[in-house]
This record gives sequence, C-alpha cells and structure tokens, in this order.
Amino acid sequence: MRIILLGPPGAGKGTQAKMLKERFGIPQVSTGDILRKAAQDNTELGRQAKILMDAGKLVQDDTVIGVIRGRIAQEDCRNGFVLDGFPRTIVQAEKLMDTLKDMNLSVDAVVDFVVDGQALVKRLTGRRTCSDCGAMYHETSRPPKIGDICDACGAPLYQREDDKEETIKRRLEVYRSETAPLKEFYRKQGNLKTIQGHGSAEEVFSRVCSMVT
Ligand code: AMP
Repeated sequence: MRIILLGPPGAGKGTQAKMLKERFGIPQVSTGDILRKAAQDNTELGRQAKILMDAGKLVQDDTVIGVIRGRIAQEDCRNGFVLDGFPRTIVQAEKLMDTLKDMNLSVDAVVDFVVDGQALVKRLTGRRTCSDCGAMYHETSRPPKIGDICDACGAPLYQREDDKEETIKRRLEVYRSETAPLKEFYRKQGNLKTIQGHGSAEEVFSRVCSMVT
C-alpha cells in the first residue's frame, strides 16, 4: 500500500502516519523527520535545511526529491510506505510521479486532512516532540505521564523551533501558496480522499482506514 498524506502543518499527518505504520506494517517516510535527523547529525544537508526549517520556509525541491528517491528505493519500502510531508509543491508531486513510474509503481490513495486554522495553531503551539524517538505529545490534549519526558522511551521532550507562534504563521502561508494546490493536482488524477481532521487521533484514524482499505 502506498499512501500520501496531505494537509497543513498541525493537521495530524505525523500521528496518522505512525498509526498507519503500526496497522499495515509499512514505513512512515517523513521528509521533516529525515531533515531534522540530518540537522541533529550536523551533516551538510542538515545544516542547510535547518536554516530554512527554523524560518518556516520550504527546503529546495531538488534536495527533498533526492532524499525521497533514496529513501523509497530502500528495502523496507518494497511493500509500500506512507509519505508524510512529501510532496509539498507541484514540482515535487510531478517528480514523484516520474520516479514511481520508473519503478513501475503507483500511489493507492492521497489523503487530505481538513482542519480549521485556529485549531491548527493550537495544536502546533502546544505540541511537544520526543528528542529521541519522535513521539508527539500535546501540553493539554495529550500530555506525557511524567513531566517533560517521553512515555515511550524516557528521552526529554522539546518544542520544535518551527512550532513557535511567529514561525507557524509563515508555515501556514507557505502551505496555502505552495502545498494547497496539490489537492487539485491529485483530484484531477482521481485519487484524492478528503477527511475531516478534527477529533481524537483514534477517531481520525478510523476515518482514514475506511478510506484506504
Ligand atoms: P514537517 O515535519 O513535515 O512539518 O516539516 C518541517 C519542515 O521541514 C518544513 O517546514 C520544511 O522546512 C521542511 N520540509 C519537510 N518536508 C519538505 C518538503 N517536502 N519540501 C520542502 N521542505 C520540506
């Protein structure tokens, strides 16, 4: 199964991708996670990407397309994958289509999450991320059991630099201008599934499952 998750920052793509990974045994391929790991490892790619990420801007198309091509060619993606945060521009979507065509593969579903703007800002400003395993929490709606420590692995939680209010505004603007046009792109191809992203993660997940199975 090959699934693309679309939707604005804070729509729940990461959470749903993790749940799909568990349910269907397919890897979550998140360009944001890959770039953050590169930044943590202080690679050349990571250093350059971090400047753009912290400013709420997109990383260059060529860079992320290269990252994705390498990642989906790996063995664990052979039976499918969930793309989380890619594509984010029309150029990326076109290049992805070319890449999959070359591999004789296609996308089964493109799921677009709809969440209103105020809810997105609330979700993002309250989000806390595990510094080690990437698990996500929310300071009010999904707090960790103990302090600022990850329930799953015990590592400290942190607030992503780009989850601060001033950067969120920029990310939402970038989403509207660069990424929202992808809905029309995939609608024309006939595989766009629109899902209401409000409610608990479990409620949203049951909507997702009814669309992709
Ligand atoms: P995310 O974790 O998906 O919210 O992504 C965090 C940041 O990583 C974004 O704001 C961008 O700076 C960068 N990024 C992630 N995916 C992409 C992509 N497909 N194209 C360009 N930049 C990306």
